[in-house]
Amino acid sequence: MTFATLGLIEPLLRALETLGYQTPTPVQAQAIPAVLAGRDLMAAAQTGTGKTAGFALPLLQLLTMEGPKVAANSARALILCPTRELAEQVHASVAEYAQHLPLTTYAVYGGVSINPQMMKLRKGVDILVATPGRLIDLFRQNALKLNQLQTLVLDEADRMLDLGFSEELANIYRMLPKRRQTLLFSATFSDDIRLLAGQMLNDPLSIEVSPRNVAANTVKQWIVPVDKKRKPELFVHLMRKGRWKQVLVFAKTRNGVDALVDKLQGLGINADGIHGDKPQATRQRALDRFKSSEVQILVATDVAARGLDIEDLPLVVNFDLPIVAEDYIHRIGRTGRAGNTGEAISLVCADEVNMLSAIEMLTRQTLTRKMEPDFEPEHRVPDTDASGQVVKKPKKPKKPKTSGGGGKRNLGKWVDSGEVTPAEPSIKPVRKVPVFNTGPRKKK
Ligand code: AMP
Repeated sequence: MTFATLGLIEPLLRALETLGYQTPTPVQAQAIPAVLAGRDLMAAAQTGTGKTAGFALPLLQLLTMEGPKVAANSARALILCPTRELAEQVHASVAEYAQHLPLTTYAVYGGVSINPQMMKLRKGVDILVATPGRLIDLFRQNALKLNQLQTLVLDEADRMLDLGFSEELANIYRMLPKRRQTLLFSATFSDDIRLLAGQMLNDPLSIEVSPRNVAANTVKQWIVPVDKKRKPELFVHLMRKGRWKQVLVFAKTRNGVDALVDKLQGLGINADGIHGDKPQATRQRALDRFKSSEVQILVATDVAARGLDIEDLPLVVNFDLPIVAEDYIHRIGRTGRAGNTGEAISLVCADEVNMLSAIEMLTRQTLTRKMEPDFEPEHRVPDTDASGQVVKKPKKPKKPKTSGGGGKRNLGKWVDSGEVTPAEPSIKPVRKVPVFNTGPRKKK
C-alpha cells in the first residue's frame, strides 16, 4: 500500500516524499480513507505510530478540496491538544505536511502573551492547533469565531479529560457548529472515556490498530528495585555504568524534578528539568535543547509524557512510577518510536508496589526485575504479576487482631523487616474517571 493508493493528492504526496514517509502506518492506512469519506472517528493507536499524519493528511486534503475560504477571525479546523508542547509539535507536523498547499496553520496555547495570537487570528487560519484554556480565552475576547468550523480533532482525548479539561471541553462544544466532523485520537482509552466519547461522535468508526493499552514492543522494559532514599544515588550509578547519553527521566512531582536536577547539576552532569511551574518559554527551551542533544538528561513531570516526539531517544527512566497506570505507556512511548528500539527502566521502591501492579495489569506483562549489586533494597518490593496480584510475604507472624474492625479485611499494611510499608487499600489500576459535562444536555 502507498499513500497514493489511499487517495491523497499530489501536493501532500510531494511533502511526504520530502519527509521520507514511504508506506502508511497501520493507523494511517485506516484513518486516512475514513476521514476523507467524512466519517467521525475514534482511533486508538500506540504512541509513535504516526497518528498525527493519520488525521492531519486527510484533514488538509478536505480543507483544500472543499469549503469556503476562511473568514476573518475564524478557523476551519481545530485540533485540541492537552499540553503546550504537544500543540507546538502537532502544529510543526501539520505545517510540514501542508508545505505545498495554499492553507494557513497556527498554534495557540497559554503561558505566552495572547496579543500576538489575537493579531495572527485576524485574517483567519485554516487549521488551528490549540490547548483548551487559551482557545476559550480567545473565543471570549472575540478574537476567534467558530461558526465556520468543519472538523474538530481531539488529540490525546483521554488525557484531556484526565487533566481536568472536561469543563473546558464542554464549553468548547457549546461554541461549535452542530454539523461538523469529529475525530478522536488517543493512545489509550479507558472504558469510561470510550463511553463518554461515544456521546460526542456521530456514528463513529472505531479504529484500533494495536491491542489496547499495550506499549510498543520495540521498547525493552525492566525495573530495578531500590529503597526510596537511594534512588538518586542509583540513578547516577546506572547512568555512569551504562554510559547513558540522552535520557528522559520522569519524576512524580515538580519538587521531585527540581531536586533531581539540582543533584545532577551539583555533580557536574548536564541536566535540565521541565514541569508545569516553569514559564512556557523555559519549558520549550529545555525541550529544544534536549532534542538537539545540548542537554543530556531531561527530568520531567508527566507534562512531557504524552505525544512528544524526540528523534532516536534511546532511553526513558521512571525515577518514580506514575500514579495513573496509563501514563506509564505514554512515558515509555517517548522511546522506541517509528520502529526504533528503546529501553525503559523504572526505579521502584516498596511504596510503589501497587502502582507497579496496576501497570503490569494494564500492560498485561510482568516486568523483569534486575537487582543492582550494592543497591538491593532493605524494604523488599513485594512480588507482583500481570494478574494484579501483589504477593505479600510477611516475615513475621501476623499480629493478633485487637478489634473486630467491622469484619473488614486489613488490605493496607503488612510487616517486613520490622517496618510498616504503607500500601493502597486496593490494588486495582488507578483510574481517574472525569466528571464530564456534555454541556447542552444539562440545563442550568
Ligand atoms: P506520531 O505518532 O504522529 O507522533 O509520529 C511518530 C513519528 O513517526 C514522527 O516522527 C513521524 O514523523 C513519523 N512518521 C509518521 N508516519 C510515518 C510514516 N508513514 N513513515 C515514516 N515515518 C512516519
